[in-house]
Amino acid sequence: MTGHKPLFRTVLVANRGAVAVRIIQTLQEMGIRAVALASEADRFAKHVQWADATVYLPGTSPKDTYLNQALILESIKRLPRGWQVEAVHPGYGFLSENAAFAAACQQAGLTFIGPEPELIGRMGDKVEARAMMEAVGIPLVPGWVGEAGSEENAYLQAAETIGYPVLVKAAAGGGGKGMRRVASPEELLEAIRAAAREAQSAFGDARIFLEKYITRPRHVEFQILGDQHGHRVHWYERECSVQRRHQKVIEETPSPALNNALREEMAQTALHIADLMQYTHAGTIEFILDEQGRYYFLEVNTRLQVEHAITEATLQQDLVRCQVEVAAGLPLPFKQADIKPIGHAIECRLYAEDPSQGYLPDTGTLTVYRPPHMPGLRIDSGFQEGDAVTVHYDAMLAKIVTHAPDRQAAMAKMQWALSHFPVLGLKTNLSLLQAVLLHPDFQAGRYHTHFLEECFNAQGTQNPAFSADPRLPALLVSDMLASQSASLALAAHHVTVDSPWESGGAWRMGVSV
Ligand code: ADP
Repeated sequence: MTGHKPLFRTVLVANRGAVAVRIIQTLQEMGIRAVALASEADRFAKHVQWADATVYLPGTSPKDTYLNQALILESIKRLPRGWQVEAVHPGYGFLSENAAFAAACQQAGLTFIGPEPELIGRMGDKVEARAMMEAVGIPLVPGWVGEAGSEENAYLQAAETIGYPVLVKAAAGGGGKGMRRVASPEELLEAIRAAAREAQSAFGDARIFLEKYITRPRHVEFQILGDQHGHRVHWYERECSVQRRHQKVIEETPSPALNNALREEMAQTALHIADLMQYTHAGTIEFILDEQGRYYFLEVNTRLQVEHAITEATLQQDLVRCQVEVAAGLPLPFKQADIKPIGHAIECRLYAEDPSQGYLPDTGTLTVYRPPHMPGLRIDSGFQEGDAVTVHYDAMLAKIVTHAPDRQAAMAKMQWALSHFPVLGLKTNLSLLQAVLLHPDFQAGRYHTHFLEECFNAQGTQNPAFSADPRLPALLVSDMLASQSASLALAAHHVTVDSPWESGGAWRMGVSV
């Protein structure tokens, strides 16, 4: 963009952590100034250091800060002259799929970098999305949607017709919340009540529905992108079947589960869905694939996904740049035929959690935190050594992404990255990630959404049937010990940002590549 007028002068990144850092980086590369948000707990966070300016929000809980639409919109009105925000990028999580926020941005005269509010609302409702897909013959998991106030008997009958096991799902669901697997009629009614309660408290919407529970499925999703001129493309798939509690842990592209014919068929279905919705911006069409290779529509996510970086790696594209260009009204600069993935990419999500305690999130200070560097390795993180990981926000520390000419090489690079990433101060899932990478079924690409549950016992350690290469954990420990003393001293050093207006530029270093 050098030499050209930027598409926007100033954009608000209404998020925090790794995704805020990642969006800020692209905005600045495009010559756009990024305004960040910071709760009290995030005063010194990496995304604040990277931003050109920061709006400080009083309080710490997400409800009081990053989810507080009225406060955010009111605060940005008070920015000094010359710093008026023109557009808002919501990232993922928080307000990214909140139709009311998208509408409020538009009403305030801001460009919302995402689809139209009406579309966000429709796709955020899994029941409505199902109805829309059913009407045009998109394959759906067999299911049943009750009327408001359906009798308990009706649920029992529906589950019988679908056949056990069934999955109770929340209409407004997200992040695996409000989801219950039910194996027999005896458990059904209690599961429905519990799912409805959980959905009411998480989403303020207690509606639930039933779906056939697909055993040992794979989760395969397609990235789509549309501009405001009716041009839409897909950016191929991501395989996201290594999950715990219905949440993704490792993703890769291309999917080892697809042959070219199936890939093409699913891609065309994803594009068909995108056309049906007249989709603009980046979005993801999620499918579930059964053991027979049949696929079913799961949902549409109307935002950037956590795992978008693997797609960026194989396509050598910047999805956030595309989102900003689309928001500014530019046409997509490529045709479907130009989009050709190169090589293989894998992402591992490094979480501050204890796999031996049912993946219980852990908190503490990152006394040692040294992301490694090498070509073809990208680490997106909102943390730096010395930072505190608190209970207030998501426990994801970093996304570790490797890209190489083939799957074997991408896995080898990931093993290298995991064993050269010392993290001390709290419990992480690092060793579990290493063990998965070494597991013969993962190496063969033969896995499904219960892989972690089946191959690693309830404590998150390996199933005795499989013994890991002992060299890697040993390497990791010696690495960590070697760097511990130096980093303890470093941990005491904290960056202070005196004025929000002085925080830009100087901190654009240590960029994850
Ligand atoms: P959320 O919006 O809460 O993330 P999704 O519908 O996207 O919910 O599903 C999340 C995960 O739950 C999927 O990746 C898959 O592992 C599991 N899942 C969802 N629906 C089914 C189903 N019908 N059968 C088996 N597993 C399912």
